[in-house]
Amino acid sequence: MSTSNPSSHPVLDQDFHLLIDGQLVPATETFEVFNPANNRVIARAPAASSAQMEQAIAAARRAFKDWSRRPWAERSACIQRYADALEARKEELMDLLTLEQGKPRHTMARSEVEAAIYWVREVAKRSLPTEVIEDTDQHVVEVAHTPLGVVGAITPWNFPVLLGLWKVAPCLVTGNTMVLKPSPYTPLTSLFFGRIAQQVLPPGVLNIVSGGNELGQQMTEHPDIAKISFTGSTATGKRVMSSSSCNLKRVTLELGGNDAAIVLADADWQAIIPDLFWAAFGNSGQWCIAIKRLYVHSSIQPEFVRAFVDYARSKRVGDGMDAQTDLGPIQNRMQYEKLFSLFEDTRRNGYTVPLGGHIDQTQAGNFVPVTIVDNPPEDSRIVKEEPFGPILPIIAFDDVEDVIARANDTPFGLAASVWTGDRDKGIAIARRLDAGTVWVNEIHIHGIDIPFGGHKQSGLGVENGHEGLAEFTNTKTYMFRK
Ligand code: NAD
Repeated sequence: MSTSNPSSHPVLDQDFHLLIDGQLVPATETFEVFNPANNRVIARAPAASSAQMEQAIAAARRAFKDWSRRPWAERSACIQRYADALEARKEELMDLLTLEQGKPRHTMARSEVEAAIYWVREVAKRSLPTEVIEDTDQHVVEVAHTPLGVVGAITPWNFPVLLGLWKVAPCLVTGNTMVLKPSPYTPLTSLFFGRIAQQVLPPGVLNIVSGGNELGQQMTEHPDIAKISFTGSTATGKRVMSSSSCNLKRVTLELGGNDAAIVLADADWQAIIPDLFWAAFGNSGQWCIAIKRLYVHSSIQPEFVRAFVDYARSKRVGDGMDAQTDLGPIQNRMQYEKLFSLFEDTRRNGYTVPLGGHIDQTQAGNFVPVTIVDNPPEDSRIVKEEPFGPILPIIAFDDVEDVIARANDTPFGLAASVWTGDRDKGIAIARRLDAGTVWVNEIHIHGIDIPFGGHKQSGLGVENGHEGLAEFTNTKTYMFRK
């Protein structure tokens, strides 16, 4: 395992500033940002005061007047220029992403940044045209979509670039303005894309305000914010929803998951092991839609576990800046400690662990080994909880009805997948799984036009697709007598 010296990286030779009303501004207070590969401080980020949050919201409110009245095509062109400006700085964005988040620079950081830029450019080309739904001799009915006002975006630390820009592009193209608050664990990439926005977007249209969790609460309670677009944990999502009721804010909540993958006996299981491995362990398992429970038919489960372990054994955990690294560290110490407790529970209960299982706490970085738990009981913590780390239970099942019931027996409902040689059987099972997205014989496909959101306690509303764009608007009905 190797570690670089990040504090010497050229991308860190800059001051990180808030973006408020088109100005890059410092804050009186700052907070430390750590590299999870070695827990050294790599930068100090501005901790905005509550007064600065007020200024950002007021700026977004002022900017809304002009921005919302501009023709859609003009807003679209402006956002596409933003995509070009991001493209020009994407290597720096990738460096920053790996340095603050930990994910491998040459694989996951690259794909996150490139996907985010593609999203900004392509979402800017989408539209929500007014529909004429009735046109008779006497009467016309039109349904239009009008912007909401100021949107507050609150983002997590696992995909800070992609999940931030997923919100920025649809919010702005529909005519809203935004105040975005990144996670205090990963503020640098958002402050950096704010710096780029300052050069191409009109003042106040996008404001980036970093600091503590209390800023998020200030946003949810604020009467001048019309909507909160939140991605994070279910526990925080509930608090967001509760305090957003003060002015009946719109809320879109993208929350936690405990996704099941079901591998039937007739699946070409040797061939799909790489797909299943990366779907569970990509981003070191710190992924809302990571496979978190892998159910495999008992007739193949022992052989499957052996082959899965063989594949997983070759994957290298290390510093994301090292080109040889497949999986980076856990992003922050809080999450690392949570995982440690889950590993301890697995050890204390004597579950079979054919790979990994021991976290070496003497290491400087938050490194956690790829860990597989063979057939733990259905009511174990490792099956019931969202670990958000590189540990996966592979559980045997005999009966399809039983596995559907087990997959659905969770308060979460984000995504799921079914793997089989019989496509029709797979689709029949998919229709009975209670989740916002279900894949059959593929996984983790996303698209600009594909709505994504959770059922049950995994969320409310969707991002992406026509529906996701429409969630940044009010529906307005016009009726005209001829
Ligand atoms: P978190 O809920 O701890 O924090 C998310 C954001 O909320 C941060 O910016 C934080 O500062 C802010 N926040 C904290 N308290 C707040 C409050 N009272 N009011 C308003 N904002 C507040 O989540 P996290 O640990 O950063 O992210 C991990 C979680 O996110 C996991 O559960 C994961 O499954 C989920 N997630 C979901 C999706 C999805 O699309 N469904 C995507 C990524 C992550």
